[in-house]
Amino acid sequence: MNDLTIKNGLVYLEGKWVKTNLSILGEKIVYIGNEVKNAFDVLDAEGLKVLPGLIDPHVHFELNCGRVTSCDDFYTGSVAAAYGGVTTIVDFLDPTSNAEELEKSYYERIALAKKSVVDYHMHACIKNPDGDLEEYVKTVKKLGMKTIKLFTTYSDTDRRTYDKDIKTLLELSKKYDVMIEAHIENDNMIDLRESYTFKDLPVSRPSLSETSEALKLAKLVKEVGGNFYMVHCSSGETLKALKEQFSDILNKNFVVESCPQYFVFNNSVLEEKNGKLFTFAPPLRSERERQLLTAYYTDVMCIGTDHCAFMKKEKDYPHLMGFPLGVGGIEHSFSTMYKRFGDPIIEKMSKNTAILQDFPTKGELSVGKDADISIFKEIPDYFEKENHGTCDYSIYDGILGAGEFQHVIVRGKFVVRNRKLVPHNGKEIICGVK
Ligand SMILES: [Zn+2]
Repeated sequence: MNDLTIKNGLVYLEGKWVKTNLSILGEKIVYIGNEVKNAFDVLDAEGLKVLPGLIDPHVHFELNCGRVTSCDDFYTGSVAAAYGGVTTIVDFLDPTSNAEELEKSYYERIALAKKSVVDYHMHACIKNPDGDLEEYVKTVKKLGMKTIKLFTTYSDTDRRTYDKDIKTLLELSKKYDVMIEAHIENDNMIDLRESYTFKDLPVSRPSLSETSEALKLAKLVKEVGGNFYMVHCSSGETLKALKEQFSDILNKNFVVESCPQYFVFNNSVLEEKNGKLFTFAPPLRSERERQLLTAYYTDVMCIGTDHCAFMKKEKDYPHLMGFPLGVGGIEHSFSTMYKRFGDPIIEKMSKNTAILQDFPTKGELSVGKDADISIFKEIPDYFEKENHGTCDYSIYDGILGAGEFQHVIVRGKFVVRNRKLVPHNGKEIICGVK
C-alpha cells in the first residue's frame, strides 16, 4: 500500500504536461502512470498543475546586517517559501576568511536553519581570504557543500575577494569540483558618498559596474576554466554582452542566475511614494534594461529570489550608506515568472538548480526521486496578494501573477494542504547524496 496517490493532475514530466497519476511511498515517488494505485491518502488534482518542488538557490533568512537583521527567520521564510511552491531553499553561511572560521559559521547557520519547514542547504561564503584557499575548499566539501560565494565589491566592509584569489579559486573549482558563485559589481565604480539616499541607488551602483565586472570575470573564466556562477544578474546589458562576447562559456563554465524583481520592475519605482521599499543591491535598472533582460531570459539558467526581507520601518533611513538593502519575494516568484514566461521558467526554478547544486534526489518528477511536489492552480486575472512571511509589505502586492499553489509536499509529507500550513520539519540536503 502506498502512502499517497495524486490522481488526475496535469503533471510536468520531462518538459511536457501529461494527465496522469503519481504514487508516493515514504519520501519517494514510486509510481507515475495511468493506474490510480491504492494508497492510504488520495488527492484529486483535477484541474491543477503538478510541478516538481521548486528550488530557490538564493535566500537570506535571518541575515544579521549589524544594525538590522532580515525579518524572515528560517521558520517564517520557509513558510513563505512553501506557499510559493518552493520545497528546497539554499541560504548562505556568514562570510569567512579561512577554513577555521568557515567550519564555525557552518554549525552556527545550520543550527538556525533547523526551524525550516522545507528542505535546506547552505552556500559557503568567503570574504577577503587570509588563509590557505585549498584548505578552505576542502573544508567546504567536507561539510557537504559545493558552492563558495564571493563578492567582488563591499571592500568598505572588507568582504571583497580580489582577482588573484578569484583566479586561485577557479583553479581549485576544477580540482575539487566545486562552484564559485559571485556577486558581481565593479567595486571601484561604486559611489557611496554621504549625501546619497536610496533614490541615488541607480547612480551609486550603475549598471555599467555590473557589466564591466562580469565581462572581466568571463574573460578570466575563459582563460583559467573552472565552474563559475553569477548570482542576481540585474542588467539586460550585462546578459546581452555576455551572450555576444562569451557564448562559448555562457551557461557552461559561466552560469547566470537572475531574480524576478529585475524582470517585473524598473527603477522608476524608486521615485514613487513607497520607493524606499524597492531597495536592494544590485538595484533595479532602467525600463530599457528590464526589457533587454526579458528579451534574453532564455540565457538565464537559474532563477533565485535573493529573498532578504526588511520591515518597512527599517527602510526609514536617511542615508544610502547603512541602508538595509533587500526585499522578500519567495512566495511570489513562481506565480509572477510563470505568468510572464510560461513553461520554460519551470526548469530554471527546479531541475537546472538541482543539477548545478548537486541535489540528485531533487528537481524532477520521476520514480526514485524525492516526492517534492508543488500543485498549482492557475487563476485568470490573478493579482498577488497573500503574504505568509513576517514582513509588513511585499513589492509584489497587486502585481499580475498566474495563480496559487494549493498543495505542497516535501519528501512525501504535506507542508501546505488546501492552502493551509501543515506542521513539517525540513531536512538538510548534502550535495551528491542520493
Ligand atoms: Zn543575495
